[in-house]
Amino acid sequence: FALANAGVRGLQPYQPGKPIEELQRELGLSDVVKLASNENPLGPSPLALAAAERALKNLHLYPDASGFELKKKLAVKLGVSEQQFTLGNGSNDVLDLIARTFLGPGCSAVFSQHAFIVYPIAVQAVGARAIVTPAKNWGHDLAAMAAAIEADTRVVFIANPNNPTGNYLNRDELSAFLAQVPNHVMVVLDEAYIEFAAADDFPDGLKFLQSYPNIIVTRTFSKAYGLAGLRIGYGISTAETADLLNRVRAPFNVSVPALAAALAVLDDEDYLQRSQQINRDGMVQICQGLDALGLRYIPSLGNFIAVELASDAMSVYQALLREGVIVRPVGVYQMPKHLRVSIGLPHENKRFLDALKKVLSV
Ligand code: PMP
Repeated sequence: FALANAGVRGLQPYQPGKPIEELQRELGLSDVVKLASNENPLGPSPLALAAAERALKNLHLYPDASGFELKKKLAVKLGVSEQQFTLGNGSNDVLDLIARTFLGPGCSAVFSQHAFIVYPIAVQAVGARAIVTPAKNWGHDLAAMAAAIEADTRVVFIANPNNPTGNYLNRDELSAFLAQVPNHVMVVLDEAYIEFAAADDFPDGLKFLQSYPNIIVTRTFSKAYGLAGLRIGYGISTAETADLLNRVRAPFNVSVPALAAALAVLDDEDYLQRSQQINRDGMVQICQGLDALGLRYIPSLGNFIAVELASDAMSVYQALLREGVIVRPVGVYQMPKHLRVSIGLPHENKRFLDALKKVLSV
């Protein structure tokens, strides 16, 4: 223990949920519903699945270390150059690469209270200092974040929409913030849920990259593209920034089936649209159900929603578990009265709402 660097020694171990099979055994239930990890309830895209299966014949080979084909396709789709990409083992990996590239002892990073949990971990693991600004209406307070930037600040992390709160920053808010950020600071725009973010004033972070070279946009195939289990995401930045990140990146950090499936799912427009539709409908279904129960929630542009309970959410979480419904307590995000529920298929959403009604009326 004493041999670990000081930042690592201070980290709390990640608390993974129990595997679904174990819970089913424990609870004596055969049909547990998991709405806990913001996964895609549709299952994988058939095109992605077929491509991953075809790729298995090459399991004895290292993957293409540059991700050449995928970058080429993404570059055309997004209107940027192939040199602007950094591929990651999930976008988590890219966030980690950013911390390792730009942070270290003697540096600081700014992020908001209730923001995605990987930011404090990535920052602390490299021995940098975290500057956490208080949230405003559960969201990022950009004025506070701009004011919190210090001379040694190298990175600001912004999740848009944010997890676990689901709220978002609009184009004007983000634009005004970026104009205030000094050149010595990299702004990470974490857009893991962008495909779900259907608001007219929702900003596409890539648009800002033309005016602000100190931006890294991160995106993922885990959510709307349904490839969470394969672990693949990417960063888009200037070619200079990507060059730096790629020097730190482990050369074979994205697997053979992940590259193949990601390439294929980009062609599956139908899957993406169905993902978005099922999420839109499910969000309405869950919000209406919560309204009927008289519960408050934070309006969300993601594929999940944070529900506010009258008191400590852990007891409701435990009671829902006994009903065979797994959601996510968000105490580690300093939100002890909230539970985060991922949007599922219609029957899963109903199961959650029915179970919630039952446990709250007991
Ligand atoms: N950013 C945010 C805001 C997230 O919620 C997640 C997933 N929980 C990620 C990044 C990372 O996702 P992945 O590593 O699967 O791409």
